[in-house]
Order: sequence, then C-alpha cells, then structure tokens
Amino acid sequence: MKLRFLGGTGTVTGSRYLLSDDKHRVLVDCGMYQGVKTLRRRNWAKFPVDPSTIDAVVLTHAHIDHSGYLPALVKHGFKGKVYCTQGTHDLCKVLLPDAGYLQEEDAKYAFRKKFSRHENPEPLFTVKDAWEALKHFEPFHYHETFEPVKGFEVTFTPAGHILGSACAHVHHKAHGRSVVFSGDVGRQNDPIMRPPEPIKKADVLVCESTYGDRLHEETDPETELAEIITRTVSRGGIVLIPSFAVGRAQLLLYLIHKIMREGRIPKLPVFLNSPMAIKATEIFSKHHKEHKLSASQCEVIDSHTEFVRTVDESIKLDSVRYPCIIVSASGMASGGRVLHHLKTLLPNYRNSVVFAGFQAPGTRGDRLVAGVESVKIHGEYWPVKAEIHNMGSLSAHGDYNELLQWLEQGALEPEKVYVTHGEMLASDIMRKRISEKFGWDTEVPDLFEEVEI
Ligand SMILES: [Zn+2]
Repeated sequence: MKLRFLGGTGTVTGSRYLLSDDKHRVLVDCGMYQGVKTLRRRNWAKFPVDPSTIDAVVLTHAHIDHSGYLPALVKHGFKGKVYCTQGTHDLCKVLLPDAGYLQEEDAKYAFRKKFSRHENPEPLFTVKDAWEALKHFEPFHYHETFEPVKGFEVTFTPAGHILGSACAHVHHKAHGRSVVFSGDVGRQNDPIMRPPEPIKKADVLVCESTYGDRLHEETDPETELAEIITRTVSRGGIVLIPSFAVGRAQLLLYLIHKIMREGRIPKLPVFLNSPMAIKATEIFSKHHKEHKLSASQCEVIDSHTEFVRTVDESIKLDSVRYPCIIVSASGMASGGRVLHHLKTLLPNYRNSVVFAGFQAPGTRGDRLVAGVESVKIHGEYWPVKAEIHNMGSLSAHGDYNELLQWLEQGALEPEKVYVTHGEMLASDIMRKRISEKFGWDTEVPDLFEEVEI
C-alpha cells in the first residue's frame, strides 16, 4: 500500500492523503487551503491526481480544511462515495453549501472590483456543486467497520475535536497493514467534548501537530472569560467573540450561560449571529449522546440565546450600543457577519474582541492577535482600539502534552509516524517530541511525497 501526502504538510490547512494499492485509490480528507494567499492559490491548481481515478473518500471531520475541496473534486469527475460519521455528514450539510455560497460571493466581488485576471471570475464551486457532492455521502457509526473499496477496511473512532470528528483506521486486508489518520485531536479535559479515544494499533500513524510547539495556558477559561466580560461591561462596552460556527460556538454559549447563572458576570443579552452556527447548534442538540451536555442543558442554552437569523436582524444588531455579548462567525475573522461587527466595534476602546482558537497565519484573526494597529476589512483600514484576546484555553485541539498523553494511552508501537497538519516549526517540534518520548521513527513528510507502507 502506498501513501501520498497531497496536502496538510507544512500548514494546518488543505488536509489530503492518498492511499493506493495496484487496484484502488482512497483519499483520506479532502480539505481546502486557507490563510495566506500562496496557500489559497493551491485550491485553484489542478488536483494532483485525476479525481475520476479516486474510488472513495474517507473524511475525518467536517471542518472546511478537511472537507472543503469535496464539491470541487466531484465537479472535476470524482464518482465514488464519501464515507464519514453521522455527525460529520450532518455538519457538512451546513458547511459545504455555505462554503459554496462564499465562493460565489468572492467571484461576484472580484468581478465588481475587477481585480481578477479573468474577465468573468468563476467560483471554485457553487452552492449547487456542494449539494451535488453531498449526494455522495454515506455515513457510518463509530466502531463500525466498512469497506469503501475492496481490500480496504475502515473504522472510525472518536477524536474529541468537534461533533462527529474521528480518527480513521484503515486496514489493508491483503497486505496485512494498518494506517491510522488522527484527523484533528481534541482535548483531554474539554468542558463539552469527550476526550479522544486512544488508538490501540497502527503500523503507521499520521498525526496532526497544530499545537506541536505550544502549550495551552493553564488558566481556567471560565475565570478568564468572566474577567474580560466584567471589565468590558464596566466600561459600557460590547464583547465580540469571532467563533468557528462548528464546535467552539456551542462551547462558548455553554460557558457564558454557566458563569451568568453563577452570578460571575452581569445578566446580559447573548446573541448568536451566524445562520450556520445556529444550524450547527441544532445539530449539536440532536447528537447529544456524543458530547457531555444533556438534552436539557442544550435546551437551556438555546432558550437564553438570541439567534440572529436574517440579514436585517444582523444589521439591526450592529447598531446596538448597550453592553452585550455577540458570538459570530467566522472564527479567524476571514469572512462572514463578524466582519461588520468588527468594523463597528474595533475602533472603540470600550469593546473587547475575544478569539477562541487557532488563528492560521495570514488571517485577520492572526493579525489582530499579533497586535496590529489597524486592520483591512472590505477594502478599508479600521483602527484597532478595542481590547483583543486570544483564549488558547478554548481551543478544540490538544496541545503537544495532550497529544503525547493521548498517544501514550494507546500502548502503540508504530513502525513509522508521519507528522502533518501543523505549521513547519510546530510539526518539526512535534516530530522531535514524539521520537524522544517513545523512540518511534518519526518524520515530517514533504508535500507530494509518496511512501510505501
Ligand atoms: Zn478541525
């Protein structure tokens, strides 16, 4: 069996790994590149293998950097099935059409502003392409083994990162070899997600390294959030939380309502302004067996949150000047409704903007967290006077200690570990830590490298 790294090396986005034997090709994850322009440009390059020659896709989870290229893959000739968990399927029904919508909007914007090299800029894919891709999905339960193509057996185990997230275990029957793709790995002690299940057996392991060079602060997120909110409210300001629609929005709402109920912050209106996050919250409630919150806890959160659905409601919310909390996507402030709030709230020192997770290099979130004095939104520069925070403790990824702890729990003895899904330095530090701690043969693969496993 061969493994080729078609993406997700030297960067946290664009996860794509191709497994093949002499008869079949299985693609594990089909992510879009995000962040700096040189990476985003890769989305437009011809896919490195002809999509019509790929027999099946296996998805670890729904985040766009793992699933977002699927509509384009189908558009360019992929005919097979896409295998994932039930939760991933449900979330992709929200995320992929939204990604198509954003692509269409970008193309229209490029046309209007005439900054495309093409006379008629085309979207990478459309909403319609996304729905077309969704017809290829076939969900399975965790721990259920299935054969996407003859000879390859696949099983998903919970990865604790977001709803439906999984490690993908692939076993090649004839070769008697197994390879496990970690996907994105969650926290050991997340307030709402269960910890990732240890991997018990793998000849080869492909492991993420988003936080390969970092530890999350020890601070308790509830205390930190309570302090920021109280301070902001005492100045008469608004707390804006750019949040990933899937995963962190639900955690934030839970934490905010918990500290409000405990009297640690004043009673304030809480708005969730992202149609996608609203749908994701509904899916979260539906799959309540997969996380730590009970159905009644989900209901309480829902009943205390004001859901902002329409564009008109969103515009109205932007004119609010009294203290409140606004949770809005996207999490790295790279698009979505949060941009309008940022334009209104950033120039005023009374307000606070709280980021809640990894900010990919090149994104607005990354620049704001780095402390820029002004930031470009919709073609104009906006001064940054508001208080900016990045709460690493709210991340959906384990830090390097948590990753090592998780690897240790499995009593694994892999022959080889490939470290992926990290910035260059983070992956390299993770490589060293794994090989020092366990003595395993560990490597950071190059883009397009192919290895025999
Ligand atoms: Zn993810």
